[in-house]
Amino acid sequence: MHNYEIAEYFTLLGKLMDIHEENPFKIKSYTNAAYTLDKLTEPLSDMQPSQLFAIRGIGEAIGKKILEIIQTQKLSLLDEYIQKTPAGILEMIKIKGLGPKKIITIWKELEIESVGELLYACEENRLINYKGFGAKSQQNIQEALTFYLQHQGSYLYQEVESLVESLQKSLANEFANSKNIISGAFKRQLESLDFLDVVTTISVTDLTTWLQSKSFKLENKDTYISCKGEDNFEIRWHLTTTENYFWTDFILSCSPEFLEKWASLPNFSNISFPNEQAIFEQVGVHFIPAPQRELAAIIEIASKKALPATIQVADIKGIIHSHSTWSDGIHTIEQMATAAKNAGYEYLIISDHSKSAFYANGLQADRIIAQHKEIDILNKKLAPFVIFKSIESDILNDGSLDYPDEILANFDIVIASIHSNLKMTEEKAMMRLLNAISNPYTSILGHPTGRLLLSRKGYPVKHQAIVDACVENNVVIELNAHPRRLDIDWRFIETALKSDVLISVDPDAHAIEGFDDCKYGVLVAQKAGLCAAQNLSSFSLPEMMEFIEYQQAKRN
Ligand SMILES: [Zn+2]
Ligand SMILES: [Zn+2]
Repeated sequence: MHNYEIAEYFTLLGKLMDIHEENPFKIKSYTNAAYTLDKLTEPLSDMQPSQLFAIRGIGEAIGKKILEIIQTQKLSLLDEYIQKTPAGILEMIKIKGLGPKKIITIWKELEIESVGELLYACEENRLINYKGFGAKSQQNIQEALTFYLQHQGSYLYQEVESLVESLQKSLANEFANSKNIISGAFKRQLESLDFLDVVTTISVTDLTTWLQSKSFKLENKDTYISCKGEDNFEIRWHLTTTENYFWTDFILSCSPEFLEKWASLPNFSNISFPNEQAIFEQVGVHFIPAPQRELAAIIEIASKKALPATIQVADIKGIIHSHSTWSDGIHTIEQMATAAKNAGYEYLIISDHSKSAFYANGLQADRIIAQHKEIDILNKKLAPFVIFKSIESDILNDGSLDYPDEILANFDIVIASIHSNLKMTEEKAMMRLLNAISNPYTSILGHPTGRLLLSRKGYPVKHQAIVDACVENNVVIELNAHPRRLDIDWRFIETALKSDVLISVDPDAHAIEGFDDCKYGVLVAQKAGLCAAQNLSSFSLPEMMEFIEYQQAKRN
């Protein structure tokens, strides 16, 4: 064992004790020891205990710990600290720019326990409200976190998008005579993916020469060529002939369950098709778009009738769920509204954070009055465009909303969301959610599970019970379109649609650029077969006004 390896045990111990706010003198003795051991030229593992104990700044107590490390490759005191530290906090230690003091704030004050959640908090501009963080350090942390997460293997759909665009461009330029398509999980519009599948008719020599010229690392697998670039993201190249091209793309763009059912269909014979449509015609099934090739049951439906047209990005008529500088947003209400109007939206629902969200500068009662005055003035200026008065009201521990009824009555729409104490049992989560849903002021249930893709699972819930309660109380279920949330999970939207609950694709925009996130909500909503008529944010302005009237009638 090298001296520097032994020193690392003490460095980590010092950091963890610092994070757990232990005695500063003890911490200092361990960090000093790490420094001394790292500089020592004579190998520690060759030393007698007496020699060890005699090293300046080491002594018997630390000397014994060094012996323990050499003999067992372990340090029990360190293990104790590792055990009482969440895995995500241990990960943060590895990130550039995050020292123990900052980690304590992140963990104890922001209550963040994973790297992905921390990145989301940076994107939401939340760190700058805390001591020790400025805009610059928040940006540095955000960059370091992005770098770190990109080397973990899984990527959000949105993160892969720009790669796909540049890949499509290069393929069109370099191989104009070949056929290429991005298939697999990307074509199925899954919310996150581990690799990209490309189906191509490029010859193996041309492809490998081109990839090698771009310094990709290549590996031959059974059915594809795997390639990885500097970012470590894997692209799988499925080489095929022109005859088999559509079939190869088809099988890659189906879930295993879907494909198994397909293979059992009568009439299915060859693998050579002139286009995608012909694959469906051969077995007498109406066309099923790739995003909907998930459950086997859809084949049965499509064999009887054409599938209804699903929602498109252009079907989003208004921005529901947005934050301004009144809470933790980047732009003023006027900037947000003007941008929404110019982008062709008919209305903007401003729903800043409520008073419990102190970390996000949530609104106290007096500030609500001031905000509403501002909205009234802007509405005169921007007509016929409308800004609706809304709030993202925190669902408290007992499931109540964090304003009394007389304040809630001032809002056109109340979005109820859980932001605190996310670690809870299903029983507790359901109690909070069901209480909030049955509150007559609640119009929309915001990000129903609190999940953050690739970083936080979200609290456990019973989806059917949520849907039932929303039906009973005329509450809309949000499909939070932030590419890291996409919450409610599209897999449960079908349940909601069966019960006639409205879904709302909401960007949760914290800046003007956030409006564009609606697209990610639409992409997963298409997977669930959501139609525009079943989506609240596709309501026209008159329909939205009617909806609000109806919601207000519910309050009396
Ligand atoms: Zn929220
Ligand atoms: Zn929000």
